Amino acid sequence: MYNSLWQTILGEIELSLNDDVAFNTWFKDTSLNITTEDIAIIEVKNVFAVSQLQKKYDALIRSLFTKNGVTPLDVRYAPQKTGVKKTINREISTALPVTPAGDSTLPAMATVPISGNLNTKYTFDNFIVGGSNDLAYSAARAIADSPGRKWNPFFIYGGVGLGKTHLAQAIGNEIIDKNPLARVTYASLNDFTREFLDSIRFKKKFPDRYRQSDVLIIDDIQFLTGKEKTQDAFFDIFNTLHEANKQIILTSDRPPSSIVTLTDRLRSRFEMGMLVDVQLPDFETRCAIIETKAAMSGHELDRETVEYIAQSIKTNIRELEGSLNQLLAFSEMRGVTPDKNMAEGLITGASRTSRTKSISSRQVIDKTAKYFSLSPSEVCSAKRDKHIANARQVAMYLLRSELHLSYPQIASELGRKDHTTAMHSVSKIENSIKLDMHVREQVDSIREALYV
Ligand code: ADP
Ligand code: MG
Repeated sequence: MYNSLWQTILGEIELSLNDDVAFNTWFKDTSLNITTEDIAIIEVKNVFAVSQLQKKYDALIRSLFTKNGVTPLDVRYAPQKTGVKKTINREISTALPVTPAGDSTLPAMATVPISGNLNTKYTFDNFIVGGSNDLAYSAARAIADSPGRKWNPFFIYGGVGLGKTHLAQAIGNEIIDKNPLARVTYASLNDFTREFLDSIRFKKKFPDRYRQSDVLIIDDIQFLTGKEKTQDAFFDIFNTLHEANKQIILTSDRPPSSIVTLTDRLRSRFEMGMLVDVQLPDFETRCAIIETKAAMSGHELDRETVEYIAQSIKTNIRELEGSLNQLLAFSEMRGVTPDKNMAEGLITGASRTSRTKSISSRQVIDKTAKYFSLSPSEVCSAKRDKHIANARQVAMYLLRSELHLSYPQIASELGRKDHTTAMHSVSKIENSIKLDMHVREQVDSIREALYV
């Protein structure tokens, strides 16, 4: 029904982008729906496209709606329905050694989460429950069942890689599953801060989505430390939402009482709802996590291997996952069944779970060149044209930040003899990133291209 409007808008997007690759990547095979609540829902290929459109093209799309005489109440992005997600989860949950209760509460149909910032891979179904996290898990489910009514705010704290983000997002995903129109906003405190500072610096309007959320999830709230102005802004939004009985979910690596320089008024608000912690998983839970994750990717590990990994990695579920993935990748590459020996070799190896290993300097230079529409040899040349010099500096910065190369190494990757240029370039881009949103976006885009 909205096809012709959307085709018109797409035509204008294509013209204004003037970039076939970008257009095909993000806009090809998209479609538009407008709900009875007057909300425009643009269906795109996948969750990644959702976040790209939201980040980069939202303003353009909104302005084109208006230009074509349609002003929906809101514009949202959703991945196309595939029906895959729930099927996979169901299969897995029957294979779980420790299965979270509540399979019967699964909605029968595949769902279309609307909020672009949530990652649909974080669900309750694939969260393994054990003694270390069962309280947090039950509370999270209760919140998802009646957001805004039970405990507000819901504050989850605990060490790194123990499932705080997973749980917080699972609540959001579950709420959207039940009510696709719920406005669930997810942001890390750092995203929030950045948007807040940009709004001041560039005299832009601070995004309404925070204040207009039905559910607001702020991850890693401990970073409020030392940010007075951001604390004030957040306090304001917190109160507005709280008074309207909108659910607020916060995560932190420590309890509110240990967040230093948090104003008392915020601390007391953080403590007024429900505080739960996630603790280090015990041995059995670690085994269950490994077995389940292996099953999710279609592998079965023998008990010895599972126990070996569970014994070797005790403090961080993300690391546990990383080692397992490495083991599975390695066994696939070799075409042999993963076993304890292989696990030993990988886990004792020095290069454990380092994502920096998977990209090379060559890729950094190629992707940077491509981003700036240059050839890699131009980036590595001695040319001083501003555009080329800038691309070269960004490449140097990325070699440092992503690959941790030394300055002499960076210089030699770019065909330089003198490493002081590399030092200056890296520090120049470091500063620009702090001051200039545009540079930040450039660097983020290249990073994304490197890892996706
Ligand atoms: P945190 O936010 O506490 O640092 P995350 O939520 O990012 O940790 O978890 C790190 C990784 O471990 C994620 O990939 C997450 O899915 C996984 N994970 C953590 N806890 C569990 C769990 N109980 N069951 C399954 N996966 C988990
Ligand atoms: Mg987290």
